[in-house]
Amino acid sequence: MTTTTLDHAAVAGSGTETKTKRVLLLKPRGFCAGVVRAIDIVQIALETFGAPIYVRKEIVHNSYVVTDLAKKGAIFVNELDEVPEGARVIYSAHGVSPAVRDRAKERGLKVVDATCPLVTKVHVEAIKFAKQGYSLVLIGHRDHDEIEGTQGEAPDVTQVVSTVQEVADLVVPDPNRVAYLTQTTLSLDEARDMIQALKNKFPNIVGPHSQDICYATENRQVAVKNVAHGADLVLVVGSTNSSNSNRLVEVSKNLDTNSYLIDTADAIRPEWLNGVDTVAVTAGASAPEVLVKDVVEYLQSMGYGSVDEVEVMPENVRFGLPPEIVQAIASAPPVNR
Ligand code: SF4
Repeated sequence: MTTTTLDHAAVAGSGTETKTKRVLLLKPRGFCAGVVRAIDIVQIALETFGAPIYVRKEIVHNSYVVTDLAKKGAIFVNELDEVPEGARVIYSAHGVSPAVRDRAKERGLKVVDATCPLVTKVHVEAIKFAKQGYSLVLIGHRDHDEIEGTQGEAPDVTQVVSTVQEVADLVVPDPNRVAYLTQTTLSLDEARDMIQALKNKFPNIVGPHSQDICYATENRQVAVKNVAHGADLVLVVGSTNSSNSNRLVEVSKNLDTNSYLIDTADAIRPEWLNGVDTVAVTAGASAPEVLVKDVVEYLQSMGYGSVDEVEVMPENVRFGLPPEIVQAIASAPPVNR
């Protein structure tokens, strides 16, 4: 496999060469810093305290990751009431509402918070705007764990919108006192359209100092935008409930390049490859590299002999562990020593 930085001619091909079946492997792809941190937290907790460790909701939205951690002793629950009183529970990367934190206190649970720091940033903004007396418009998907958590910071003043039509239908007490925030994993294009619609409707609306859509979501979308035009098909490795993975499929389709979301290589249907010379492969922020490797190997077995990694931009973000896991490691009994 060769790795190159983005070269538009190489991606598009010269148009004169004999067509060879090839794979363009996008970079950056796969795990973001928030996902690496969340998975590390569960693994360190398992190693430090021993199984079982309870995890509220999927730690990240990926079936392979969740199944792997469950095999190692993590018990995934939907609600804290399923966790025995006094037990240890980890909050997922998507964050929780204050109501969940209160419930954990009531039940005497030992909490480890794996909320991504970039999700926490949005929570802090929600609290700030609510304290300042703004009506809050949260752009995102109602059924997503992250939106549930962020909305919970200021439920009485927050309305969630998912479409431009819902922006048009919004009613607020004071149109001059409105703030907006977004989910971290939205489509950049859709969010831009909705923010513009909000600005048209509420000219004095205020927003976050920097965009809430995170660097990993943005970088993976930009990579697809740069490469999709030179591909006949874009395969996105990710689970169906992964918001940022779904957005990558949409970005490709919006550029008229067919695209599918696949949990694993087994999900690829051979007929998708009919007449396809160039397959671009990427992965959502919660999809592990081992699954990408399987996809590339499958494509090679189907005659895609050339694999070029195309680096659209560098990505070197890392997050530290939360203080509670650092302290927990320091004060835990030496079960594994
Ligand atoms: S996708 Fe973005 S917000 Fe979500 S865990 Fe990764 S870095 Fe954090």
